[in-house]
Amino acid sequence: MDLGIAGKRALVCASSKGLGRGCAEALAAAGVNLVMNARGAEALEATAADIRAAHGVEVVTVAADITSEAGRAEVLAAAGDVDILVTNAGGPPPGMWSDWERADFIAALDANMLTPIALMKALLPGMMDRGWGRVVNITSQSVKSPIAVLGLSNAARAGLTGYVAGTSRQVAGSGVVINNLLPGIHATDRAVSLDTGAAKAQGLTLEEARDQRAATIPAGRYGTAAEFGATCVFMCSQHAGYMIGQNILLDGGAMNSTM
Ligand code: NAP
Repeated sequence: MDLGIAGKRALVCASSKGLGRGCAEALAAAGVNLVMNARGAEALEATAADIRAAHGVEVVTVAADITSEAGRAEVLAAAGDVDILVTNAGGPPPGMWSDWERADFIAALDANMLTPIALMKALLPGMMDRGWGRVVNITSQSVKSPIAVLGLSNAARAGLTGYVAGTSRQVAGSGVVINNLLPGIHATDRAVSLDTGAAKAQGLTLEEARDQRAATIPAGRYGTAAEFGATCVFMCSQHAGYMIGQNILLDGGAMNSTM
């Protein structure tokens, strides 16, 4: 299928590894030039080099913390007029509802709600002026099906989801399409860190903890970054023009619900 976006320019945040990298690779395979970001320069440069070599697209890199105001300013200055925005950042730490203080919530809201909102606020006007744009926010399955120990994530991402529900309908008439992509468990560093915690708590090996979790998923396995990227690039394509303000869940069937 021709996705119709070759030659466009995308900013993919937090993309040196994991799901962000999967999205960057899929966009590059569709001929999209990239602005990629992560805090660590080494992994970012290595990923950018791999993508340039594999797909021959232009890749600009910005090593910066996307959740800080200074980092965002640096990224936005390098990005310029982008047609496609994929927002992403690390997730908040797990914990217990009774331990979280105001400062913990402010940090989670900053990273996983106010950062994507600030990026959209900066880039939507240009997309609207040009009459075309695509935004995919990487959120989490926890928006639809709460994960109690990730209460900070549940709260911040639900706030972003509410913002997107309204804003996506305000900009749709200008050719700008905003949706959220909700990962269930995927085989990335984040999953290794979650499984390491579970293994420690239950006295299991990492492999046992992973197998135990995989057995709870109807698909019987973790998702891959490549599958995630393939869905993301479709949501950034010409074909997604009538998909407005949706929350697309990729969880191997883990959430048991009829709709
Ligand atoms: P990952 O494998 O740990 O990769 C995270 C990527 O983001 C790395 O490239 C990292 O590079 C970059 N990054 C992290 N914090 C950043 C920041 N403040 N500024 C710029 N770059 C940053 O994580 P992932 O599994 O891809 O997860 C991506 C998002 O999806 C997270 O918010 C996670 O909570 C959510 N999620 C993941 C899963 C899953 O199963 N994997 C499930 C549900 C939700 P640097 O460290 O060098 O900055």
